[in-house]
Amino acid sequence: MFTSVNPYNQKKLKTYRPDSQTAIERKLKQADRAFADWSALPLADRVDYLRKVGDTLTKNKRQYGELMTAEMGKTLKEAIAEVEKCATTCTFYADNANAFLADKSIETDRSNGPAQKSFIAYQPLGPVLAVMPWNFPFWQVMRFAIPGLIAGNVGLLKHASNVMGCALALEDIFRESGLPEGTFQTLLIGSKSVEGILKDKRVKAVTLTGSGPAGASVASIAGSQIKKSVLELGGSDALVVLADANLEKAAETAVKSRMQNAGQSCIAAKRFIIEKSVKKQFTDLVLHHIEQIRQGDPMADDTTMGPMARTSLADDIERQSQSSIAKGAKRLFGGQRDGCNMQPILLDRVKPGMAAFDEETFGPLAVLIEAKDEADAIRLANQSDFGLGSALWTQDIEKGARLARQIQAGSVFVNGLMRSDARVPFGGIKTSGFGRELSEEGMKEFVNVKTVWVEKE
Ligand code: NAP
Repeated sequence: MFTSVNPYNQKKLKTYRPDSQTAIERKLKQADRAFADWSALPLADRVDYLRKVGDTLTKNKRQYGELMTAEMGKTLKEAIAEVEKCATTCTFYADNANAFLADKSIETDRSNGPAQKSFIAYQPLGPVLAVMPWNFPFWQVMRFAIPGLIAGNVGLLKHASNVMGCALALEDIFRESGLPEGTFQTLLIGSKSVEGILKDKRVKAVTLTGSGPAGASVASIAGSQIKKSVLELGGSDALVVLADANLEKAAETAVKSRMQNAGQSCIAAKRFIIEKSVKKQFTDLVLHHIEQIRQGDPMADDTTMGPMARTSLADDIERQSQSSIAKGAKRLFGGQRDGCNMQPILLDRVKPGMAAFDEETFGPLAVLIEAKDEADAIRLANQSDFGLGSALWTQDIEKGARLARQIQAGSVFVNGLMRSDARVPFGGIKTSGFGRELSEEGMKEFVNVKTVWVEKE
């Protein structure tokens, strides 16, 4: 049984019975059948369907927001904004799908042999399995599903076990929007069932957003079957503050980046790395912003940070924070906890060798790391097994763009909040994963990039 529990008050919300083997088989068959029809539709028809998905999201955004808030604890305001982001991404891909998926003509006849006509066609692969986490229960799923479905694939969702209500609501959104049966289905399964499904011949590829161990397991199964995989994994990204930064803006953005979603974001600024000469000033500003956070009931209008999604996650943050303090870090703020309700924490004097530096911290824990100078700041930023989305603050934008190239990450935002945006690719390097989501690049992860070469008879 899967049980949804409200993390704010630990009240049981609902239980869900896992799919039987018969139900799984029925869904796989359905996906296979649906793919044949869905992929044969003109692109313009699939685009129309996805516009309707955007309308459904917008129409019911409060209802979906409340469901997310109840199941995993983000504030209602954050949850509704997440639904809105999914809706605008439907519009983005609907507006751009034609350009992204159009055949690309390649000139080959004159310089490279006798081809009369040659082009690249982008064709769907088939049913794609999506293994997804609970932290952005709508966005993580939709940022795969919207471009994936427009490209002609069909989706099979295995959502995190604590957000099965969201998983079923997502399936309903596609149904309510009129998409043919089987185009997007939710599987009520635990992680142990992923292997069998991924090994099924009808499933052609997999995308996983989650932790490193889950990614390693799923990618190795996909590899054993020669199936395409995309992995969006953890991060421990740096937010580098150079001496010439706009410190007020940098501090405000740093706290927002670290504390949104109760710190449970893969791209949160997990390590603030600050040049020595401005460290004291930056610390005071960060402390000021952290003091303004109101942790509490995520449904309440005046709450700015909800609970963490599970007690085990709060346990991890407590352990990481305490073990770092035992090694010399200094707590400047926070640390009080009641179940999943954790006050934000600010640690100073964090260094390599401490959990708060070396590990991913998936909760409301901000850490201050002093750098001797610019070169030292970049060195510390790169001293991580992860490489997802970093940030750099400097008023010299030429320097910012130059240093961005030196930071080992899938994205670097200079003087702005590191975020995902449908217009630009999203993904990581090192143990943060491989492959990209969003933008044209993300849409093309799950297509057959087919060369068609036609010669004169
Ligand atoms: P998780 O434990 O890896 O779970 C993510 C999903 O993978 C869930 O559906 C989970 O199912 C499933 N799963 C877990 N172990 C599996 C296995 N061995 N085989 C197959 N499926 C498995 O991650 P989490 O703790 O929920 O989420 C937090 C992690 O996700 C963090 O590391 C965070 O940085 C990362 N994340 C990355 C991104 C990104 O875009 N890069 C975005 C968000 C989160 P069950 O729930 O049934 O265990």
